[in-house]
Amino acid sequence: MSAAFRGASHCWMNGSVVETERALVSAMEPIYLGIFEGIKAYVEGDVLGEGDLNIFQWKPHIDRLWRSAAVVGLKIPYAKSELLEATREAIRANGFRTNAYIQPRVWPKAGTGRYLAKEFHVVIPTWKFDTLLGKGNPRFGEERRFMISTWRRIASDALPPQVKSWANYANSGLAIREAARLGYDGAIFLDNRGFVCEGTGACLMTVRNGRVITPPVTASILESVTRGTFLEFIPEDLGVPVEVRDITRVELYASDEAFLCGTGGEATPITSVDDIKIGEEYPGPITTRVAEYYAELLAGSVEKRRSWLTPV
Ligand code: PMP
Repeated sequence: MSAAFRGASHCWMNGSVVETERALVSAMEPIYLGIFEGIKAYVEGDVLGEGDLNIFQWKPHIDRLWRSAAVVGLKIPYAKSELLEATREAIRANGFRTNAYIQPRVWPKAGTGRYLAKEFHVVIPTWKFDTLLGKGNPRFGEERRFMISTWRRIASDALPPQVKSWANYANSGLAIREAARLGYDGAIFLDNRGFVCEGTGACLMTVRNGRVITPPVTASILESVTRGTFLEFIPEDLGVPVEVRDITRVELYASDEAFLCGTGGEATPITSVDDIKIGEEYPGPITTRVAEYYAELLAGSVEKRRSWLTPV
């Protein structure tokens, strides 16, 4: 079992909890037509501790899964409430008491019509992950050198990045491999107009003159749940103004701070882009404040934001 699937002895598949190693499908499955979601559950009280888990932003994630399904013509044969129960069952079956990642996947069943399929698989694997967040976490401040990918982000009129489909990640894979080959830690895409877009698996935020700036949904980005969350709490709870607008490549280089935001990326500080150091302080003060507050919120310590959590 790979490190990524640490501890995931069980998953939920088509109606019941099964052993992950026995969650078998035919080699003929058209998995390339699939969609998915990436959701996290964090430990109550302290994201670096152990205990009961709360799923973060269940509703917007599951709503996006349904929207992705509608766009690509898949039908999820369960109610949203059934998938919540399924997720709870999968987490409990694994006995997780530390943070868990949840990845509901939907694709057409082999032999049922492929592009016009009538039947669909729904599988929910879960696994443990190491968070960047939490008090004194040394991973947060590690150096991260990014490059602007020579690959452009897929355009909405060709392969919509707003749909969370596996096919989109072929584009991310090209950029990730290029960055790794050239010795960078990660890549940032430009959109097909040449404006700053997003990372390979997370959205991007910059800080200039005390304001947090992030590209609009029309800049070929995934409508990220974390981005939406940050756009809400950064001005309302931290009093830091936010701006949603196109960002040029030079503006990114000339930012005071830059960070990625996403379910996987959480709040990931960026040290440099194309070897140009971002700002004077790393990690920057606003990035650090956002990440610290986000960790509190995920742990359920921010009373007014507890509605974003769903107990397992
Ligand atoms: N952009 C891309 C390309 C992603 O894969 C992700 C991760 N799902 C995000 C942005 C962040 O989205 P979210 O906050 O909903 O996880």
